Amino acid sequence: MNKPVIAYIGLGSNLSHPLTQLKLALKALAELPNSQLLKTSAIYQTPAIGGLIQPDYLNAAVKLQTTLSAVALLRQLQLIEQQQGRIRGEKWGPRTLDLDLLLYGEQSIFTQELMVPHPGIMTRNFVIFPLVDLEPGLTLPSGESLLALKAQCSSLSIKTIA
Ligand code: ADP
Ligand code: MG
Repeated sequence: MNKPVIAYIGLGSNLSHPLTQLKLALKALAELPNSQLLKTSAIYQTPAIGGLIQPDYLNAAVKLQTTLSAVALLRQLQLIEQQQGRIRGEKWGPRTLDLDLLLYGEQSIFTQELMVPHPGIMTRNFVIFPLVDLEPGLTLPSGESLLALKAQCSSLSIKTIA
């Protein structure tokens, strides 16, 4: 049995009733094998980036303790994405749920399949704000503090909805 590790998972959705998607994903995360859901952030709403007209995103994050390896955890997250990722009636509809492994203990992982800390952590307010809810005193493996990152990122156009 592996040693328990604290991991942080980011959740995002902008399709097919995003709030329902996040709630379903939270339930699935609470039922992950060999893992215990410790804390859930607030839910945040941000406009989609990239210029395409599409619905706002909802984002959240969770803190969990797990004895799954990082790769095993990633595979579990991908299973949950797949379970929620298909729109009825379409063969391979757009993804309705994105689950990212943001942090896995103190580890830095750089493989083709898995990059931890997730590269988006540094700049995305919709990742940093939920993480601050979970653990404001968090330090990344690089030694950077989460609060320092938060001070650099925009709080414009991000709001909590729940
Ligand atoms: P996004 O970067 O917007 O989350 P995707 O969810 O489509 O994009 O990316 C999925 C791919 O990212 C998967 O093939 C997965 O192997 C890879 N990946 C690399 N690092 C991570 C991570 N930390 N968490 C989740 N997926 C990751
Ligand atoms: Mg992803």
